[in-house]
Amino acid sequence: MAKSALITGISGQDGAYLAKHLLGLGYEVHGIMPRRSTPTTWRLEYLGILGDVDLIEGDLADSAACMGAVMETRPDEVYNLGAQSFVATSWRQPLLTAQATGLGALNMLEAIRKARPEAKFYQASTSEMFGGMKDRPLQDENTPFHPRSPYGVAKLFAHWSTINYRESFGLFGCCGILFNHESPLRGIEFVTRKVTDAVARIKLGRQKDLHLGNIDAKRDWGFAGDYVKAMHMMLQQPEPDCYVVATGVTTTVRDMCRIAFAHVGLDYRDFVVVDPKFYRPAEVEILLGNPAKANAKLGWKAETTLEELMGMMVDADLERVKRETR
Ligand code: NDP
Ligand code: GDP
Repeated sequence: MAKSALITGISGQDGAYLAKHLLGLGYEVHGIMPRRSTPTTWRLEYLGILGDVDLIEGDLADSAACMGAVMETRPDEVYNLGAQSFVATSWRQPLLTAQATGLGALNMLEAIRKARPEAKFYQASTSEMFGGMKDRPLQDENTPFHPRSPYGVAKLFAHWSTINYRESFGLFGCCGILFNHESPLRGIEFVTRKVTDAVARIKLGRQKDLHLGNIDAKRDWGFAGDYVKAMHMMLQQPEPDCYVVATGVTTTVRDMCRIAFAHVGLDYRDFVVVDPKFYRPAEVEILLGNPAKANAKLGWKAETTLEELMGMMVDADLERVKRETR
């Protein structure tokens, strides 16, 4: 019989790539979708899988909806990807972030504990939990946490709740501590997609410049299509555990801009304007992950370089902007 998976956040970047990956492996895929005035199914459409997944209305803040979705679908695997995931927004909406990103995970854990304790659970943890650990140049599963935003704090609550439910109730709970991962399906507010969209518009004469905040910040950027494979691999291991998923290479926002603009033959210095409006109340200066454990135990490895990733994203945005302007 086909295995079944329930994905929260199925309409997001990772949810869409993961759904596609699991369908390819023969899974029956269900997803929880919060009600929006305009449907947010464009990523599922982009990947051509909208008709292949079962979508259930529900919000992570609503414990009855979480319980209902678990009871209705009786999944073998649950992937908790739903979240208010944008760091900058988490200062403007800290309570909503705590609710969806922090308590939402607990709602899913409780639903599983009561209605489907044999289900395996994946929690989307994040390198933002390391935050201020800049004196630790390479972050791994043993690096202490020091979140620097309401988002990071909420994710740390969800992370420890998953470990606590494993230790308290024997749930098969895994946490993937994923470093930044991007794709043509990345939300436009994140810096890589903001840059590739601007590169496309500037190249096509639709935009003049690009306003950014702290371009000296460093991130370990990978491709989302590679990273969702690690989520599935974690749940196939004999024991639940936590894994860092990263490329092991860190790059400044400035250098990422250089690569993206160079893809279309432009020099970023002619277009990028530093605008303090985009500075954050507290910054995470550097993230660099050590994926040795995921490499060794899962056999997972990042397959896409930053140059390839930026090229893929710029090309996709060029196509999008051309379609818009036709
Ligand atoms: P996205 O922001 O693209 O997707 C988030 C998803 O969560 C969307 O489907 C969104 O629905 C849904 N969602 C938001 N609020 C709620 C809610 N209250 N109830 C139910 N669903 C909700 O994030 P990504 O796909 O990039 O990331 C997936 C997960 O991994 C997130 O938890 C993120 O925090 C985490 N993560 C991401 C990293 C990255 O670099 N991408 C790095 C490390 C962790 P809608 O679209 O309708 O708003
Ligand atoms: P994050 O690592 O989850 O916060 O991912 P982002 O893509 O939002 O930000 C990555 C880094 O880029 C952070 O250090 C930001 O401060 C920095 N950055 C600089 N300018 C911008 C900008 O205009 N938008 C965003 N989103 N980030 C920016």
